[in-house]
Amino acid sequence: MKIPLLDLKAQLDPIRDEIMAAITATVDSTCYIMGPQIELFEKNMADYCGTGAAIGVSSGTDALLASLMALGVGRDDLVLTTPYSFFATMGSILRLGARPVFADIDPVTFNIDPAKVAALLADSSLAARVKAIMPVHLFGQCADMAPLLKIAGELHIPVVEDAAQAIGAAYPMTVDGAVQWQKAGSMGLYGCFSFFPSKNLGGMGDGGMVVTNSDKMAKDLRLIRVHGDISKYQHTVVGGNFRLDAMQAAILNVKLLHLPKWHAARRQNATLYNALFKDAGLVEAGYVATPQAVYQDAAAAGEGVDYHIYNQYVIRVKDRDALRDYLLEQSIGVAVYYPIPLHKQKCVADLASSRLSLPVSEKAAAETLALPIYPELTSEMQEYLVERIRAFYKK
Ligand SMILES: *Cc1c(COP(=O)(O)O)cnc(C)c1O
Repeated sequence: MKIPLLDLKAQLDPIRDEIMAAITATVDSTCYIMGPQIELFEKNMADYCGTGAAIGVSSGTDALLASLMALGVGRDDLVLTTPYSFFATMGSILRLGARPVFADIDPVTFNIDPAKVAALLADSSLAARVKAIMPVHLFGQCADMAPLLKIAGELHIPVVEDAAQAIGAAYPMTVDGAVQWQKAGSMGLYGCFSFFPSKNLGGMGDGGMVVTNSDKMAKDLRLIRVHGDISKYQHTVVGGNFRLDAMQAAILNVKLLHLPKWHAARRQNATLYNALFKDAGLVEAGYVATPQAVYQDAAAAGEGVDYHIYNQYVIRVKDRDALRDYLLEQSIGVAVYYPIPLHKQKCVADLASSRLSLPVSEKAAAETLALPIYPELTSEMQEYLVERIRAFYKK
């Protein structure tokens, strides 16, 4: 049985007519840059995330870059982030001449560890140079935001959330003694999203969004999106061309309506994988550790809370590379996110951080494997895949 890592055709088929109608309408409108589809999508995203504003941008990478630009991050500034993420997290910092400072991750969630953030920021001379803290909500589950926001608030350091993999993911914030579910991207000063086709909400090309509850930060970001042009060729700051295409917005307006059901299907697939791995004895034997949804218990009372949106279903395994090759040979699409932690990338070999030991990230990079989790994946496929993994260990 062939099982792809992601099957965009299976997602497209049932919504093809809706998408084509939206594309046709946009083509006929001749409004290709900004305009009503962008405005509508920004409104829809602000509503969905529970924020005051949303600003469409050209990609998730540019969402991060433009956010840091709006915060004035520049040469020799520091940005505190995780070493275990997609390259764009660090790339956006480096492109501004700033330097990443890495706090290692939590071994259970793979997200930045707030205790390690606190330990780093206890050094006041370092803290004074940190211009932003950038947590990543990796694989579709929010980083532990309450302690991060507390530390950041005490030191007046803005938080920029890299929510590229976590659109709609909810975090149980305790407000006045009661749990209030807050959406990824809505908790920091800026929240950044990507509509790369493999994200839970994927466009048909590149796209991104920044959300914020600050009117001022929304205004600054809108300026940076269009070369700092306040009106007709009057440039107050240097920005870029960071606009989202109207065509992508039209497509995404259609797809956003389907997102809750896609999240739920991914969650259901995750639940089935968890049970299958357990029943196969692979968990108990120590071959496979299934992902932990750490906010699931808090969500138990509220059906439909997106406590994890499973952009990726990532297991820890013994003999990872051999298992990956074994599955790929059998046309089972698996992938390693990410094989090299950011501090070990060649392009930053000259930075002092490349000599750091960040053991939790380094171990994760060596042990993790992402399995297909897309909404249209069938239970037969999942059963077959788990059976193949069982065969690998018990041969
Ligand atoms: C996808 C992704 C990005 C970048 O998004 P693009 O739209 O591809 O530029 C940034 N950070 C993380 C964690 C991502 O997964």
